[in-house]
Amino acid sequence: MEENKFQLDLLKAQNEKLSKTERIYRIVCESSEYGYVYQAIGSEELLTFGSFEKMFGFSMTGQKDFERLLDVFPEDCASSILDTLCPEKYNKTFATCECRSLADHLWYRITTRIEHSDELPEFAYDKVITFIDITKEKARNSDLLYMAYYDTTTGIYNRNYFVSLLTGFLSRAVAEKCKVSLLMIDIDDFKKINDVQGIIIGDELLEQVGFYLKGRMVEDKVICCHINNDIFCVAIYDPFGSYSVESFCNDLRIRFSESFCMSTGQEISITACVGVAEFPEAGTSALDLINCADIVVYDCKQHGKNITRYFEAPILDDFLKNVDIENKLKDAVFTNSFMLYYQPQYHAVTRKLRGVESLIRWRDENGTMIPPSVFIPIAEKNGLIISIGRFVVEESLRQYKKWTDYYKMHFKLSINISALQYKRDDFVDVIMSLIDKYQVEPSDVELEITESILIDDFDMVTSKLVSLRDRGVSISLDDFGTGYSSLSYLKRFPIDTLKIDKSFIDTVLDDASTRIITESILNMSHAMGFETIAEGVENERQFNYLSGVGCDVIQGFYLGKPLPAEKVDELLSYIN
Ligand code: C2E
Ligand code: CA
Ligand code: CA
Repeated sequence: MEENKFQLDLLKAQNEKLSKTERIYRIVCESSEYGYVYQAIGSEELLTFGSFEKMFGFSMTGQKDFERLLDVFPEDCASSILDTLCPEKYNKTFATCECRSLADHLWYRITTRIEHSDELPEFAYDKVITFIDITKEKARNSDLLYMAYYDTTTGIYNRNYFVSLLTGFLSRAVAEKCKVSLLMIDIDDFKKINDVQGIIIGDELLEQVGFYLKGRMVEDKVICCHINNDIFCVAIYDPFGSYSVESFCNDLRIRFSESFCMSTGQEISITACVGVAEFPEAGTSALDLINCADIVVYDCKQHGKNITRYFEAPILDDFLKNVDIENKLKDAVFTNSFMLYYQPQYHAVTRKLRGVESLIRWRDENGTMIPPSVFIPIAEKNGLIISIGRFVVEESLRQYKKWTDYYKMHFKLSINISALQYKRDDFVDVIMSLIDKYQVEPSDVELEITESILIDDFDMVTSKLVSLRDRGVSISLDDFGTGYSSLSYLKRFPIDTLKIDKSFIDTVLDDASTRIITESILNMSHAMGFETIAEGVENERQFNYLSGVGCDVIQGFYLGKPLPAEKVDELLSYIN
């Protein structure tokens, strides 16, 4: 009796423990994001747990429900699902597959696991099928996959993927003994579009260019990518076959000349420079080709807009020379290796000295003279022109002060100023404080500027020039006739002197139309009250002609080459 009671209590206790464990399992199971189907083999009965019902809207109770499950997915998934549900058919204990549901397009991973247990008779086992929604995981993976191959702004290939495809092109080209052309497309004035229209429009334009290029892609033949900013690359496999560089560039120019329509309704038409580098001549690796095309584009940009150029050895030589100059230039700024020459300017009628133009000279450490036409553009590009320009202003003023003190005479000191110098907020202050430092009369100082600076920011430049003129400094417009030369803005522009560019003087005697232009520039300048200077006058005939048609001042080798300061001393003492 006692024993029976004991056994009853024990059973009760065990039962309680079991139902507690079962409760816990059930809670855990029901809160799981997994759906489960359980089957004890040997039994036809199925049990569903977890999120299964929530996922599919039904529960599985028997074999017939497998059909319902198959209906959730497309027909072509049926066989892999069936294989997954029954791994025992293949003597396996595990199987898995991924399928996308028909109705709500969700991705599911289905996994079946078979558990043998020592407690069960042979051939008997437990089967657990789990279902999990992996839609997010898939999306994340496909985003990653997308990002690995495509550029997010334009939707075409990104640089890395392009390089790997191009590398594939190159190895194929070696085997098939053919060429590959690499085109680098750099949109002209894109920065201006970005600055004026805003980066949203800028991006939209890039996207549209990308869309156009995407349409030009041909599998295994023509591939395109967005390298960065406003630069795209195109690789053409076997450019002497069905797809040529010429026809690609032709189509590109036609497309670019028709405008791109932005979502705001704005129409933007663009041009681009295209640098072409060919395998194997320009380079044998993808990166070499891209670098070469980059150098060619850089070369195009130096020569203007809407230009296509092919890689050739001199371009690379020039580029390397420029890199070399750029490096030396940095040192030269620190070691003060520049000096100034001064070219005299004479009144045409009296042949009296009107002034001198200071011109920079640079002898590099090997003693080679590097002309300013070579290094000034480089210095303007990398910003060194700011320190170089300050040296020029300071040294010219220091020298000029010495001359005026010693020879007791005043003349004009003309100083060339680059656009970058004007753009600085402290430009007027720097000039005025140096004029002050050397106690030079502001009216003896003339700044030579070029038209290019007007295009950038007319109002900003004008206000600075007005403030300099208010303090007595005069302004001369250099190289007139080579740039935009719009006479309408001359009226609004605060200048005193106009320098007719040497290219006019070179041909003025032989070319009737140059004569007409030169004479009308002179007439117009006088009507507007500007003084005129002809520069680059090399002989007596040019001199006679120019003074005959009323040019005020003559500068050039005929009357005097640029001279070092000591030689100007000789000249001044002679005049005195
Ligand atoms: P630019 O301002 O037009 O200077 C006139 C250039 O023509 C000078 O060349 C001068 O030597 C040259 N030249 C003068 N008369 C004749 C002539 O009769 N025949 C020939 N063939 N040439 C003549 P340079 O000194 O080589 O300067 C070239 C350019 O470099 C200058 O053109 C100017 O744009 C720039 N540059 C020179 N010095 C400076 C400077 O200190 N600062 C800045 N920003 N630019 C400078
Ligand atoms: Ca000049
Ligand atoms: Ca000039």
